[in-house]
Amino acid sequence: MSVDVQKSVPSADWVFTEHAVDHGDVRARCDLCGRKNLRFRFLLRHAAGAEMWVGSGCVGRFLMSVSPPDPATQTALRHRVARAKRGAGG
Ligand SMILES: [Zn+2]
Repeated sequence: MSVDVQKSVPSADWVFTEHAVDHGDVRARCDLCGRKNLRFRFLLRHAAGAEMWVGSGCVGRFLMSVSPPDPATQTALRHRVARAKRGAGG
């Protein structure tokens, strides 16, 4: 099943998998906004099974948009992204 990612984000149908990849010198492209030269990408998964690899800016905006905007939650989300980044493999 295909999902129109641009139209479907932000949506609670997408979940942050906590998985990141360090592309190192092989700069990657964000599936959501098309931004290039990303070193790190983060995996989002849709309820219908689609996957999307996005940059740190987009994963941050995604998490903020689907979560309550209180400061404690936002701090926790930033920590989730940082933790995924630390665990990133090449
Ligand atoms: Zn992006």
